[in-house]
Amino acid sequence: TSDTPEPLWLSSFASLGSAFFTELQPTHLPEPYLVGANTALAGQLGLRADWLQSPAGVSVFTGNTLMPGMRPLASVYSGHQFGVWAGQLGDGRAILLGELTGAEGPQEIQLKGSGLTPYSRMGDGRAVLRSSIREFLCSEAMHGLGIPTTRALCVTGSEQRVRREEVETAAVVTRVAPSFVRFGHFEHFSANGKEAELRQLADFVIDRDYPACRTSERFGGNAYACFLEAVSERTAAMVAHWQSVGFCHGVMNTDNMSILGLTIDYGPFQFLDGFDPGHICNHSDERGRYAFNRQPNVAYWNLYCLGQALLPLIGDQDVAIAALESYKAVFPRELQTRMRAKLGLADERDGDVALIEDIFRVLAKSRCDYTIFWRRLSRFVGGAPVDSVRDLFLEHTDIDAWIAQYQQRLAGSVPLADASAAMLRVNPKFVLRNHLAEIAIRQAKSRDFSEVELLLDLLSSPFDEHPLHEDKAGFAPEWASQIEISCSS
Ligand code: AMP
Ligand code: MG
Ligand code: MG
Repeated sequence: TSDTPEPLWLSSFASLGSAFFTELQPTHLPEPYLVGANTALAGQLGLRADWLQSPAGVSVFTGNTLMPGMRPLASVYSGHQFGVWAGQLGDGRAILLGELTGAEGPQEIQLKGSGLTPYSRMGDGRAVLRSSIREFLCSEAMHGLGIPTTRALCVTGSEQRVRREEVETAAVVTRVAPSFVRFGHFEHFSANGKEAELRQLADFVIDRDYPACRTSERFGGNAYACFLEAVSERTAAMVAHWQSVGFCHGVMNTDNMSILGLTIDYGPFQFLDGFDPGHICNHSDERGRYAFNRQPNVAYWNLYCLGQALLPLIGDQDVAIAALESYKAVFPRELQTRMRAKLGLADERDGDVALIEDIFRVLAKSRCDYTIFWRRLSRFVGGAPVDSVRDLFLEHTDIDAWIAQYQQRLAGSVPLADASAAMLRVNPKFVLRNHLAEIAIRQAKSRDFSEVELLLDLLSSPFDEHPLHEDKAGFAPEWASQIEISCSS
């Protein structure tokens, strides 16, 4: 309605100056149509849901129309890809439109797939419908699970053709985050010997997102060391949360690591079906650098690159290494806390770590479905027959022994009904399995977006029962193992 004020577009990032980005316009896409809209997020950003879904809103979030106050730009960054220094990268197909002040403070709004930029290298600046739907749904699935992540406001599509392994069609996903700054932004200025810009960027991020580092007395009041430590802690907490839900990112290059510890850059990601610790979800990752069980070490490796980049500011290598140490303390602590919660254990006792390691081993041996196991275990603790859990295993000796141990541990702690209820709040019923995304994508290709909408709804509250949608909580079908997801998107 006319009494709703126009959203106020600002851009703090643009105030950094031209060393950090190139200002440019998104490239027009013909006849854009809406694929999915996150009306809850729109509300939090002060955008009207009906406007977002109207031709005017669709045009804005395809990059065809600009609104007053927007200052579209592509930022420059570098990074290590698959463990190798890749030099300059940058927003090759992403354009920051500006920021809106939402219920949770300033949020940057970025289009992904909005056309060529000076950083596109060999790429075409576009994203395909398939990967845009995956990013849209997974961002909100992660958010629904309580995992720090960039958000997704909407996806629009166009008939414009885009060449990948096959010819596909173009889409744009609108991402939302307090900041899209990556480890690679710092690596860029550091590697090029641009210390003034490096300092300017660090000061910008500290003032906006890590203000406590200004007053902290840690590391003798060295704000940059404090910053590195805080990023390490957030990254540790994020990866521990990934491991606890069976999320495999797939491309943990340093340019895909958020300085805020948000999950960013959804490409070949996967939620594990059967529990396989060495699972490689990225078809292009031939050597398994980013296998599920390597994620915690890779995150540390990436933080080490960030520490290296910040060294000119921190000033002392030993201090930088001390700041990184926090990762090694926080990651196991966070993982154990998450796993204890999944087990319904309200307190900490000797033997818990062994109990956790044992169940991982038993699950791996049977390649047991990870999500279904935890949900059924939660019900078992609440009184459901043990067979619902046992039936998930090919061989029963190990799981029987583990359950006996587990029951002993549970006895005498909180009442079982309470433990079960708590478990159902941390063990999701719904995760974005590859086959679910695949079905929604197939339908969307024929312009039926009902499955995208349904999945958005289920994944936004993944701990709720949604009794009409049991089929979305079941095992992956046989064909799911044939889905190949590569970096191509
Ligand atoms: P990613 O593997 O998705 O993190 O991408 C690595 C780099 O390649 C980033 O700088 C992206 O912006 C860029 N990139 C990926 N796909 C494209 C594309 N289709 N067009 C232009 N740049 C791209
Ligand atoms: Mg990337
Ligand atoms: Mg990507």
